[in-house]
Amino acid sequence: MSTDVAKTLERIEADKVKFVRLQFSDIQGLPKNVAIPAWQAEKALTEGISFDGSSIEGFARIEESDMVLKPDTSTYSLLPWRANECPVARFICDVYMPDGTPFEGDPRHILRKVLAEAKEMGYTFNTGPELEFFLFKLDEEGMPTIVPQDKGGYFDLAPTDLAEDVRSEIVLALTDMGFEIEASHHEVAESQHEIDFKYGDALKTADNVITFKYATKSIALQNGLNATFMAKPKFGINGSGMHVNASLFKDGENVFYDPEAPLQLSEVALHFIAGVLEHAKSITRVANPTINSYKRLVPGYEAPVYVSWSAQNRTALVRVPSPRGKSTRMELRSPDPTCNPYLTFAAILAAGMDGIKKQLVPPAGVNQNIFEMTEDERNRSHIDTLPGDLMTANRHLLEDTLICDTLGAHVIDGLNSIAQMEWDSFRTAVHPWEIEQYLTRF
Ligand code: GLN
Ligand code: MG
Ligand code: MG
Ligand code: MG
Repeated sequence: MSTDVAKTLERIEADKVKFVRLQFSDIQGLPKNVAIPAWQAEKALTEGISFDGSSIEGFARIEESDMVLKPDTSTYSLLPWRANECPVARFICDVYMPDGTPFEGDPRHILRKVLAEAKEMGYTFNTGPELEFFLFKLDEEGMPTIVPQDKGGYFDLAPTDLAEDVRSEIVLALTDMGFEIEASHHEVAESQHEIDFKYGDALKTADNVITFKYATKSIALQNGLNATFMAKPKFGINGSGMHVNASLFKDGENVFYDPEAPLQLSEVALHFIAGVLEHAKSITRVANPTINSYKRLVPGYEAPVYVSWSAQNRTALVRVPSPRGKSTRMELRSPDPTCNPYLTFAAILAAGMDGIKKQLVPPAGVNQNIFEMTEDERNRSHIDTLPGDLMTANRHLLEDTLICDTLGAHVIDGLNSIAQMEWDSFRTAVHPWEIEQYLTRF
């Protein structure tokens, strides 16, 4: 038994843990878990625990469904919102085939692979995702609604912001779980919130995104509310984004920063941004994976629509926030919190590194409000538009060999069939909008 395993077992005992949850994500980034009694932890940590992968979205076919979960000991954490009951701990796991090779459809494995490629070039990839979400009321039966819980707005204070206590509870729980929370505030829309945690290595922050959503949903429910990370729950008000701040470090230094260069942005930063813009349309399929995601990417709600970058304005797809030095970064504003963070970070990094390898140069930054430009003006400035729906984005992904190779055939096939299925079901459904428009008119 390695010392790492021995130490982890000691902690499980000291924490008086009764159940251990082995957690992993399916292709959509939805958390899955199997609970084992604490006495099984040693087996899990040494040999792994077998499970049937055939019922997990985007995992194995029924004929080859045996898979093995191996806990990543660095992810050990108690679940603070279960503190009143018997202590429950969780690990985030890597998924293996029975022959001991990593499962190529495991989103965590895919991100690990791209991170290793970056490491070969000397780079560590850091991300800082900013998750937004809504807190909605439950009805008398305890079912989720879209009835707002408060009427607050951006940065509002109590008493408008009734959710302040719930937000504090979430912040405290996440802090207990090792998060460094940097800020939490009411967002622009009623009942919309944002909690920001410190950036870090992309694998760790991708794990954090999964934990964040799980903790937020659990604590909201304990308070009689439904937390939703759906991209655009309501027409007419802002949707929820998951801006991704991204930077590369080498030997502990941020290589996006160059105090001598224009805008203090290094050549590497510009190549990286150019790579992300080059692959922006296919990244959209990964970062905006639901039918509903595209209802957010429309003009007028602080979400991006056009492929452009800027050191200033928030209508651009890529913004360079003002801090420099160690905090120098690009912010990709398209992702929404329904995305699989592992696959999204993998796609962004692969695109950025492609820009570095090919020494791509971004077009001139656009510093005016793009929503106020005419189509002619946009064409003259060579400003392209992001895909307007899931199928268009899906086609861009299938045509992008770099991103396809990065995610691998297994995941691409899975994403493609999910998109086809969702699109067919959406396309053939009769929506309230149609009834409203046509029922009496015809
Ligand atoms: N909610 C906006 C979005 O959809 C972002 C608003 C903000 O953070 N300024 O991306
Ligand atoms: Mg923010
Ligand atoms: Mg925000
Ligand atoms: Mg932001």
